[in-house]
Amino acid sequence: MSGRLDALNLELVSASRVVAAGAEWALAAGARLAVSVLDERTRVLDDLEGETLDHQHGPVLVGPMSPRNAAALRRHLPWLQPCTVGTRTSAGLGDRLGLATPGHVRAVRTVGGGIAPVFAQQSIREMTRTGRTPAQVMDDATWGMFAEGWRDGTGADADHLKTTEDVDACLAAGFTLYTIDPGEHVDGGADAADPKALRAALASLPWAALEDTEAGLRGRYLGRTFEVEHLRLAFDEATLLRAAVKYGRAVAHVARMARHLRKAAGSRPVELEVSVDETETPTTPAEHYWVASELRRLGVAWVSLAPRFVGRFEKGVDYIGDLPALQGDLAAHAAVARQLGPYKLSLHSGSDKFSVYPIAAQETRGLVHLKTAGTSYLEALRTVAVADPPLFRAIYAFARERYETDRASYHVSAELARAPQAEAPPEGELKDLLEQFDSREILHVTFGSVLRAASAGGRPRFKDALFSLLQSRPEAYAENLKRHFVRHLQPFASPGR
Ligand SMILES: [Zn+2]
Repeated sequence: MSGRLDALNLELVSASRVVAAGAEWALAAGARLAVSVLDERTRVLDDLEGETLDHQHGPVLVGPMSPRNAAALRRHLPWLQPCTVGTRTSAGLGDRLGLATPGHVRAVRTVGGGIAPVFAQQSIREMTRTGRTPAQVMDDATWGMFAEGWRDGTGADADHLKTTEDVDACLAAGFTLYTIDPGEHVDGGADAADPKALRAALASLPWAALEDTEAGLRGRYLGRTFEVEHLRLAFDEATLLRAAVKYGRAVAHVARMARHLRKAAGSRPVELEVSVDETETPTTPAEHYWVASELRRLGVAWVSLAPRFVGRFEKGVDYIGDLPALQGDLAAHAAVARQLGPYKLSLHSGSDKFSVYPIAAQETRGLVHLKTAGTSYLEALRTVAVADPPLFRAIYAFARERYETDRASYHVSAELARAPQAEAPPEGELKDLLEQFDSREILHVTFGSVLRAASAGGRPRFKDALFSLLQSRPEAYAENLKRHFVRHLQPFASPGR
């Protein structure tokens, strides 16, 4: 490309260079945005901040990677603006540090065009832990896509939203996919409750919010059998009452959140995911059928749904449980999703579930969303383990101290006693701690504490060192991420499925 930016003494990131909106745009060394005006009628400089130089061919702006400049990128390079993904096969690639999108882009590119990526994705819980705002998550993804020259679109997932305030905060930042998590309204006790307790619990459901009555509910389901492809879902009284008591409040909550979103979003295109993956007991196919039917009755539309599958989807490790049983479960849930949608099944805690991907791709026939969140951080630690072993060892030692506290809000089963001591591995073998089950989970769930840890003087104990190392080795980090995520995406991208 022979843009005018060449005439300046800027070290340009070549993949980022693009001509659009009457200007040439590029990322330059030193975390700067460079924009050269090619068409004097363009107004792009009005939206940018930085230093404007009057070059002989026209003005050139050099500015910071700031929120204002990120917003200007999304406005004038519209492919950086998140869009809705619909029911295309898709993958969410959460990035807790805000530096992983270039590596994620490379992984998506490597497996070909079959997967719609969601580069901006973060739950409110993880934003709180990492001290980031929805706008920062969005901007980090924007800069990462820009750096790599990604022009094939992205979704943006505001993950695990629990309140209408969460929805509003993410709308303001331009997210397009809203993952509603009604988990706090799921009554896990219903599974073990006796008929008398179930009847009492049923009577106390929020019938007005459900726009329903007990008689109406019984009339629609009781004694009926619904045929869903290979399944026959029979609703005897125990099945119906259990489904309604377990998920009734959750259905009412999702409907409330969905209506709020629709009203607040106005004409902006947004889409919805329903996730009940973080509950104690699995979602049966009949319960899935009931939840989806009731949400439809209440006028809710969604593109993906995450049931709680059988077995254990722990963070950052492969599936724990009976694979044939999971395959049967996936087949049943996928059948319900095809008949009552079609919508996608969403696989949460999807990192490292290598044994699950082939059967998930097969049983869903591509109507699937794979959601990965935390292992980009582990790939950052892998980069650290090689480049700065003492820093990695210090982070691991601290993670061991924090684990018993931090594990509380995650599905993990690692035991400190089974994980190597921090002093044990020689420097060359430190990265093996990322492969050992227990140390891997320990490192995975303690990221928030690591980022927030302060030394006696109040300065960050690890965060600054971690970021400056990753920023000084963007290629090493991006390549680690690419290798890791190609393994996740390939089974969903393979042709001939
Ligand atoms: Zn989840």
